[in-house]
Amino acid sequence: MIRISYLTPSIFASYFICHRQAWLLYNGISPYQNHPLLEEGKSIHMVHHLARKSGHISIENMIIDAMRRDIIIEIKKSSRRIFPAKMQLLFELFYLKHEKGIIKEGLLLIPEEKKSLKIQLTEENEAYIRRKINEVINLVNRTSPPRIRRKHVCKSCSFYTFCFGEDIHEEDNLHTF
Ligand code: SF4
Repeated sequence: MIRISYLTPSIFASYFICHRQAWLLYNGISPYQNHPLLEEGKSIHMVHHLARKSGHISIENMIIDAMRRDIIIEIKKSSRRIFPAKMQLLFELFYLKHEKGIIKEGLLLIPEEKKSLKIQLTEENEAYIRRKINEVINLVNRTSPPRIRRKHVCKSCSFYTFCFGEDIHEEDNLHTF
């Protein structure tokens, strides 16, 4: 069994957005805390009644938005990054099962779009998550970060200034690679 207790769900999810972002987060480099998207993310959690009711649930290195009986709930602002959000939830389910012996199902809520999505840790999902955890562990243990590759997602990344040394508002000509 691979030791995953030092990975967090957000580092795991970052791997599906940008490998460099996952490396930076794991290696203790903090994103810009006042980034508008981080603020938005915090406020959406604060206002949703489920998160308000149960508060965030902390289990070792995991912070789960809300929990209801056998379901863990993640709340997202939009479905724009639905795949990393699904991966985050699957990682949480995998972690709970293999590190804590707790079997749960997952629910992804996108209140502003009135959408919800059930997530289950099927055998197939489990095999996929196991493979990806190995990949993430190999990546984050490298001595240096993956090189910067400017891509569309950089525009909304809280590491933008760290990577490019420039303010996002001064950059009018981002290109997608
Ligand atoms: S700014 Fe771009 S390259 Fe840098 S961490 Fe963010 S997404 Fe990755």
